[in-house]
Amino acid sequence: MAAHNALRQRVTWFPARPGRPECPVCRRIEHLVTNCLTKLTARLVEQPDERQSFAAEPELCGPHAYQAREYAGNAEIALIYELLIRAYRSQIASRQSAGIPTLYQHPCVACNTRDEAEKQATSGVADLLCVPDLREQFRQTHGLCLPHLDLVCEVASEEVRQFLRMDECERLDRLAEDLARYVRKRYPVPTQEETTDTERTAAGRAVLKMYGHLGAMKR
Ligand SMILES: [Zn+2]
Ligand SMILES: [Zn+2]
Repeated sequence: MAAHNALRQRVTWFPARPGRPECPVCRRIEHLVTNCLTKLTARLVEQPDERQSFAAEPELCGPHAYQAREYAGNAEIALIYELLIRAYRSQIASRQSAGIPTLYQHPCVACNTRDEAEKQATSGVADLLCVPDLREQFRQTHGLCLPHLDLVCEVASEEVRQFLRMDECERLDRLAEDLARYVRKRYPVPTQEETTDTERTAAGRAVLKMYGHLGAMKR
């Protein structure tokens, strides 16, 4: 049980706060990638040497570079990009032939963090679901997104796989019913009928269920 408690600290599915990814794997990825990008931007701002290395080898893919902008002020981003822009300017100037240097030839640190977090969290969830009590608790949540359900099933025992299949079919039935009720009340012409919270959030939950949380997607 001690091992399970240690695991639960890394893979938490309770409680899903509003606005947070509901899938425990998405949530873990989002947490670690945010951490990684926050620390990276702080290092780049505080340490001139790090800025120099980043200018020579920018270790961020495009989507994560955009995300990293959220974790620093405009002046800090300007400080980082001034060096980067100058470095690329001299690389372009020194090229004999036409064409420009490839920006994304360096592995992205945030993508690496994402991939590692996904691997650990999927096997963490597969292990936790071996415990009947935790399985019952899992049933009370919105569960995994479908891309992560697929990955968890790849590493889970046959018993856990069976449980996940049955459990997910029930979840998808409930979600489809929420969607249908909302459509009936609001499309094509809104009726006087009140909608519930569950119905109003169904469309957003359907996108999250099918594709996972945007911050946890593979880039
Ligand atoms: Zn997910
Ligand atoms: Zn990336």
